[in-house]
Amino acid sequence: MTFEGIDGAGKSTHIGFVTDFLAARGKDVVSSREPGGTPLGEKLRELLLHEKMHLETEALLMFASRREHIAQVIAPNLAAGKWVLSDRFTDASFAYQSGGRGLDRAKMEALEQWVHPALQPDLTLLFDVPLEVARQRLDATRTLDKFEREQADFFEKCRHEYLRRAAQFPERIVVIDSTQSIEAIRVRLAQVLEKLL
Ligand code: C5P
Repeated sequence: MTFEGIDGAGKSTHIGFVTDFLAARGKDVVSSREPGGTPLGEKLRELLLHEKMHLETEALLMFASRREHIAQVIAPNLAAGKWVLSDRFTDASFAYQSGGRGLDRAKMEALEQWVHPALQPDLTLLFDVPLEVARQRLDATRTLDKFEREQADFFEKCRHEYLRRAAQFPERIVVIDSTQSIEAIRVRLAQVLEKLL
């Protein structure tokens, strides 16, 4: 299962709730994140978050981190019957590197085919908010990082690509209206999870 959304959409707030919900129903849950999720992946994350680099380098490092994450965390845990929750996965690469930064979508699809041709999340929760709401939340809680300082229309494009993906894969991607209260979102998440179980 994966969690997606633009910065400030509130996905991190809800991962804990989903983890507890599944654990309470006896599921063995492993939580992870991208970029990162492994020792090498976390080193790549540091580079990705703080170094300037060519757009294609960025996309390739995202998938390098992902390849390692699948090999070391996702595949073995799924094989052991566990539920793997990942804070971001390939939809984020489409949203940020293709939608936001303009990398040719065909190249992204080629990377996806190369790195995980047969693996897709059972469920993707896409936390969706208008840009203004996301920015208000970020400004209220912490200083903006390298990515977040970029021009506002960048996140608009990311959001647009996320929603395009959701329309393309309606069976897998559930859009959560993240302008609602945390309580209302939890009610919605519980409905979605009950259906999955
Ligand atoms: O989700 P999280 O806050 O951990 O993401 C860290 C940063 O990496 C965010 O600012 C996000 O915008 C950026 N990112 C990105 N491309 C991705 C995944 C994350 O630019 N594919």
